[in-house]
Amino acid sequence: MAVYNYDVVVLGSGPAGEVAALNAVKAGRKVAVVDDRPLLGGNCTHLGTIPSKALRHAVRQIMQYNTNPLFRQIGEPRTFSFPDVLKSAERVIEKQVSSRTGYFARNRVDTFFGTASFSDEHTIQVICRNGMQETLVAQNIIIATGSRPYHPADIDFTHPRVYDSDTILTINHTPRRLIIYGAGVIGCEYASIFSGLGVLVDLINNRDQLLSFLDDEISDALSYHLRNSNVLIRHNEEYERIEGLDDGVILHLKSGKKIKADALLWCNGRTGNTDRLGLETIGLKANARGQIEVDEHYRTGVSNIYAAGDVIGWPSLASAAYDQGRSAAGSMVENGSWRFVDDVPTGIYTIPEISSIGKTEAELTQARVPYEVGKAFFKGMARAQIAVEPVGMLKILFHRETLQLLGVHCFGYQASEIVHIGQAIMNQKGEANTLKYFINTTFNFPTMAEAYRVAAFDGLNRLF
Ligand SMILES: Cc1cc2nc3c(=O)[nH]c(=O)nc-3n(C[C@H](O)[C@H](O)[C@H](O)COP(=O)(O)OP(=O)(O)OC[C@H]3O[C@@H](n4cnc5c(N)ncnc54)[C@H](O)[C@@H]3O)c2cc1C
Repeated sequence: MAVYNYDVVVLGSGPAGEVAALNAVKAGRKVAVVDDRPLLGGNCTHLGTIPSKALRHAVRQIMQYNTNPLFRQIGEPRTFSFPDVLKSAERVIEKQVSSRTGYFARNRVDTFFGTASFSDEHTIQVICRNGMQETLVAQNIIIATGSRPYHPADIDFTHPRVYDSDTILTINHTPRRLIIYGAGVIGCEYASIFSGLGVLVDLINNRDQLLSFLDDEISDALSYHLRNSNVLIRHNEEYERIEGLDDGVILHLKSGKKIKADALLWCNGRTGNTDRLGLETIGLKANARGQIEVDEHYRTGVSNIYAAGDVIGWPSLASAAYDQGRSAAGSMVENGSWRFVDDVPTGIYTIPEISSIGKTEAELTQARVPYEVGKAFFKGMARAQIAVEPVGMLKILFHRETLQLLGVHCFGYQASEIVHIGQAIMNQKGEANTLKYFINTTFNFPTMAEAYRVAAFDGLNRLF
């Protein structure tokens, strides 16, 4: 057993851990990263963001091939299996691992592959994958161990037809009918992916609306398009029990309904990866969801230990985890790179894609803000017509007196890219945050960004 000394040890090599390690190295610290997987990249690369986005992209391409009249000259529409599209995701994962491994190597970050736990507030024990044990001693430690699907005790996840968002990536066939339990972001994204492959999906929602944090109009649009793709959405339902059979799964709902399908995908909640860290040894306690509390500097209750990413809870997004990891290391090394991450855009890769930033109409109405609305429908825009992507809309909410942008809500082609233009203007100080930017600035044509100009004129036309 060897003992290694570092300035900083980072637990977890996902987005939060990677950027924390790189920021600490740039500040001249000697850094090591520990991950229990044999490859770098974290759950983000291997199980979450990357595979799901790559799957979605492949399914969109299949849908385009099957619906675009141009391709009908080549032949009949084709069906593809889930394992087929999974192969294209695997290729992206490999490339991501290779890029990320390069970042660690180039920056001389040492890597240890094994399960980490605390012996005291400066010492980490690593049980390596080869059975060896290593001891890492560090001045500072950053916990970036991420999260995993939440497993209620009364559901048998060892049943071969019961999957979660990790194990669904091992399915070796395409179910004909699939129950997705949980209609949060992950549930809705997988509903889009499977329905895009022609699978009949029952999407079970515990609430009365899909993704109720979204602007109502966008949530309604998502419901419409999912239903249009054969997804049966069942609101206000809760499971009583899940019965695994040899030939399927039966979902028994508290409402008395029973639904049978070939498989069930559980997408209801996540839990922080803190159970193997031995937090009790250092006097830290995770909450009921396995998450660790931090202050605005990403410092935990132990002054030399920081935490970032999914393990600290909201918003549990890779986008935020990158900034949180950088900020945690920034607070620690005091190199001016700290920023408390509290303003995160929403990017949801359903079909259609959704993205938003700022207030919704309901929030502004509730707060009695005199706002106005400007809209651009993609079906009328040249770039969307060229791309054969008529579904979608950009909606800008702005103050009717100051013309300040208050919210940007978008669904359809490139929504998660489009939103950043609105975000940039919204983040300007004082009078620089103005709807007028979009009419006083020449945008490339034809582009999806042109939607801002169209929506701005639409909004201004409503003023009197
Ligand atoms: C299906 C799905 C789709 C998603 N899509 C998006 C999206 O489109 N956009 C977005 O922004 N976010 C998305 N997310 C969320 C995103 O994946 C997470 O927010 C992100 O991975 C969190 O990064 P992290 O650095 O906190 O940790 P993770 O990526 O979870 O990595 C943590 C690493 O630490 C390791 N680890 C855990 N415990 C230990 C231990 N004791 N010792 C050593 N190593 C340990 C883990 O094995 C893992 O490798 C998605 C998530 C899922 C599940």
